[in-house]
Amino acid sequence: LRGAVALDGPSGTGKSTVSRRLAIALGATYLDTGAMYRAATLAVLRAGVDPGAAEEATAVVAAARMTMGTDPRLPGVGLDGEDVAEEIRGAEVTGAVSAVSAVGEIRELLVQRQRELVRQALAEPGGVVVEGRDIGTVVLPDAGLKVYLTASADARAQRRTEQDVAEGRTGDLASTRASVQRRDALDSGRAVAPLRAAGDALELDTTELGIDQVVTRLQDLAAE
Ligand code: C5P
Repeated sequence: LRGAVALDGPSGTGKSTVSRRLAIALGATYLDTGAMYRAATLAVLRAGVDPGAAEEATAVVAAARMTMGTDPRLPGVGLDGEDVAEEIRGAEVTGAVSAVSAVGEIRELLVQRQRELVRQALAEPGGVVVEGRDIGTVVLPDAGLKVYLTASADARAQRRTEQDVAEGRTGDLASTRASVQRRDALDSGRAVAPLRAAGDALELDTTELGIDQVVTRLQDLAAE
């Protein structure tokens, strides 16, 4: 493995499952940058600040104590000493996260922390798998392997719904589809670090592929 693997793409492409499984297979650590934007969003909501109020929201995120677990088998997320791994997946955070992640100053803060976490991870043997929206383009432009996962809108809505049901949240295909499309439109259309594949990323359409096939493919690429 050549240091860091950058895995980007929209929601519902199987990115999180693939990233964790790949990290386990490679004996690497794992960083979920989406969880950082989600924890930042939870901090903003808890402070009663409008996610669109850039200056106030940035101050909240700068003061928030965020801890990210990097074990792919159990990647915990802490906010001010509390385990928030479940709460950050809820509808409230999901509905507000694109607004918070569109704030340039907040991205700067989180990108700095992400690079620091990657630096620490790379001090250990085994490498690191980093998943997000801008890893190959902004956070780690020199990553040894860059992958951009895609899948049809139907497949993505279906997978997100199944994931919600499996994790005990309410899962409704029609509303999940609308929510996934809204978030992807916001993430792709924002001015700062919009969602897109890096020029040198390998694009992989996972619509017709099972998780095992995707993981095996990436494992082979990482071994090259
Ligand atoms: O990956 P996940 O669905 O948890 O990401 C939640 C949100 O965080 C995304 O919809 C996006 O707005 C934001 N995000 C981002 N940049 C990243 C990772 C996530 O803007 N690197």
